[in-house]
Amino acid sequence: MTDHSLVTRAISDHRRNYLENRFVYPVFSRRSKGISIGINLNPDKVCNFNCIYCQVDRHQPSATHEPDIATIVLELRNILESVKRGDFFSTGPFKKIPKERLPLRDIAFSGDGEPSLFSGFLPLTEEVISLKKELGFPEIKLVMITNGSGLSRPEIQKALELFDKNHGEVWAKLDAGTEAYFRQVCRTQTGFHKILENILQVSQKRPVVIQSCFMKVHDKKPEKSEIEAYIGRLADILALNGTIKLVQIYTVARKPTEEFVSPLEDPELDQIAEAVRTKIKVPVKAYYHASL
Ligand code: SF4
Repeated sequence: MTDHSLVTRAISDHRRNYLENRFVYPVFSRRSKGISIGINLNPDKVCNFNCIYCQVDRHQPSATHEPDIATIVLELRNILESVKRGDFFSTGPFKKIPKERLPLRDIAFSGDGEPSLFSGFLPLTEEVISLKKELGFPEIKLVMITNGSGLSRPEIQKALELFDKNHGEVWAKLDAGTEAYFRQVCRTQTGFHKILENILQVSQKRPVVIQSCFMKVHDKKPEKSEIEAYIGRLADILALNGTIKLVQIYTVARKPTEEFVSPLEDPELDQIAEAVRTKIKVPVKAYYHASL
């Protein structure tokens, strides 16, 4: 197997189990362009959204329920120490991939649900920052991957101030331009306005990365008017002094929750990315269904 195909296989393998760990799992991430160490803050697989394209397998019961900060920190310490010693690259799922293809890029607060709702987010952030300093990884990014719903919580706002001082980034999901499409795709009680307001407020304090998943629903790609409305929402953020660092446009890469959801073709994704690029002046990157 070539280096390229080994990396491709590592990319498609996003299982959230690593050794005996319960919460912390390294993956090869296309969007991070290297190793991202994920912290699963929703091992119970409960989410306040029910996205039609969600790739969390909720048919399998979860073995772990409550996130436990001490265990998370211990698992993270073990991985970071193993990276430091070098044996991380000669054991586990990455052992056949050359080390130079595996730069450690970030520690991602994510999971099988919404991380911003975790009640211990602030103390966990403090512990992770202190650990990365202690072990000599001050430059490694912290990433919070969020559906935006918990961003206005005071505890999250305080945690994001720590992110700001420690190479932290917020990657906020925005999959729609209109309330109706948002309801169709994200299926949540949280209002679209609330999500937009939360993203705006965060983006007024630091640059955000917007992550947008577009797909075919019953074999139909999103309407042109929906994409125009979506670009309008991004333009609203900029007009209100928000900063967007990057827009990541992607499609379904693994088995979605609903069978009527399927990936967009590469040119369809390109068309959306190009429309965003043309209308608003922010960097845009497309991630295709089955490419690096
Ligand atoms: S917000 Fe994320 S975890 Fe929750 S249902 Fe949507 S895609 Fe799945």
